[in-house]
Amino acid sequence: MNVSDIREKFLSYFAAQGHARVPSSPLVPGNDPTLLFTNSGMVQFKDVFLGQDRRPYTRATTAQRCVRAGGKHNDLENVGYTARHHTFFEMLGNFSFGDYFKRDAIRYAWELLTTVYKLPADKLWVTVYQEDDEAYAIWADEMKVPPERIVRIGDNKGARYASDNFWQMADTGPCGPCSEIFYDHGPDVWGGPPGSPEADGDRYIEIWNLVFMQFERSVAEERSFPSEVEAQAAKAEIERAGGIALVARQGETWKCTTYAQKPLPRPCVDTGMGLERIAAVLQHVHSNYEIDLFQKLIRAAARETGCADLGHVSLKVIADHIRACAFLIVDGVIPGNEGRGYVLRRIARRALRHGYKLGRHQPFFHKLVPDLVAEMGAAYPELAQASARIQDVIEAEEKRFVETLENGMRILDAELDALRGRADATLSGDVAFTLYDTYGFPLDLTADVCRERGVAVDESGFDAAMDRQREQARAAGKFKMAGSLDYAGQATRFEGYEHLQLDACKILALYVG
Ligand code: ATP
Ligand code: MG
Ligand code: MG
Ligand code: MG
Repeated sequence: MNVSDIREKFLSYFAAQGHARVPSSPLVPGNDPTLLFTNSGMVQFKDVFLGQDRRPYTRATTAQRCVRAGGKHNDLENVGYTARHHTFFEMLGNFSFGDYFKRDAIRYAWELLTTVYKLPADKLWVTVYQEDDEAYAIWADEMKVPPERIVRIGDNKGARYASDNFWQMADTGPCGPCSEIFYDHGPDVWGGPPGSPEADGDRYIEIWNLVFMQFERSVAEERSFPSEVEAQAAKAEIERAGGIALVARQGETWKCTTYAQKPLPRPCVDTGMGLERIAAVLQHVHSNYEIDLFQKLIRAAARETGCADLGHVSLKVIADHIRACAFLIVDGVIPGNEGRGYVLRRIARRALRHGYKLGRHQPFFHKLVPDLVAEMGAAYPELAQASARIQDVIEAEEKRFVETLENGMRILDAELDALRGRADATLSGDVAFTLYDTYGFPLDLTADVCRERGVAVDESGFDAAMDRQREQARAAGKFKMAGSLDYAGQATRFEGYEHLQLDACKILALYVG
């Protein structure tokens, strides 16, 4: 089964169970300005879960494009290091808006996995939230999962190897326990079952997360304390009595908030399964990068970089990053110096640096777009339509970066050579800042190069250098700043800044000497 078949099987299975097939929403969320990117299937339904939006259906299924490369969910650093993380991926989901609940959600998931996809049940493990006896009983008594493969996972209060199996949209609002399904890829791969100390290995891979939105959390009481110690003591007391509390700083004082949790009148279900992860399982490979879709992209990356080693990590990174870059551009993001545009720039430049490592010192990355369109254009017609524009945007970014990339890499290589063989080798914050400021190297790109050579980066030194520069710019700016000036046309002269405002300050600083 190729990726397209697997996606289609999922959607048609849930359509047959009365779910509306809803298209993927864009990566830039239309309903939440605080969220950087759509990072799960539930994002487009957030207001439906909150009861603020109504739809003509109470069950839905989607294949949602997601990016996790910034904000609360950031898997950028995992790409190239784990078998299971991407910056861009597709999340298959089924949703119930006050319709079915735990029993059917679990039954559907189990039936799809073991009957439709025909996975061997004895390779599947499940977790339930520590206190969720109801879900436990459904898995054990109805699905007949043996107790040795059902793991209770606590929140941060209880379990020894705590991992959060309790989902919340925010500090208040709908929330509830999760139940996750894992696939055991076998003893050749390092890792332990969920809940064990080795759980972060890649042997037992989480494939599906079922979220049971069961409660609504609201603020019951807020109390202020002069010190954190006192606020924490109040929190501990509330928790001892079985309550829920959080401590946060509030100006000069500390606030302990007590929350009330009441059952939702119509509980909801939100699930998410990584398409690439289930594809790896179904194609009998361990890593997401070995599935058909990724193999095609990796071969395209090999062709454009001239790299003969198809297992090379840099090819995986490039294959991952072309998807994120192309889909972000489809959804209206362009490389820039702040916010979403800066995340896109960071991903693109990271890919270019990996190409450089393979000997490609000229633009190559945009040439992967037709290969991507060939793989994903049928499922995403908007990708196929935007193909020429995506290539132009990426090529422009490549041209902008090639010169400084080469010079910057020379400096960085020389620094790393000088650090060779030293214990606790750390790249100075000043060098990282020069690379950022003059050569357009995002900090994470520098850190990625350093990590390959076992060198850390002095990030607080980097921040200090950044602060110094801001301070200088501000001081200089104050001197002659008058009226409102428009620097928009000049901002592009300075690469790598996170905030355009800073560009303006720097330009001013240069003007005033
Ligand atoms: P993990 O613990 O492996 O990082 P997660 O618990 O963060 O995954 P969820 O937020 O529960 O993931 O998302 C639901 C599903 O989406 C996961 O079970 C997984 O199959 C998939 N998924 C999550 N993050 C990624 C990613 N970065 N790349 C590919 N698939 C992912
Ligand atoms: Mg994660
Ligand atoms: Mg997880
Ligand atoms: Mg999860």
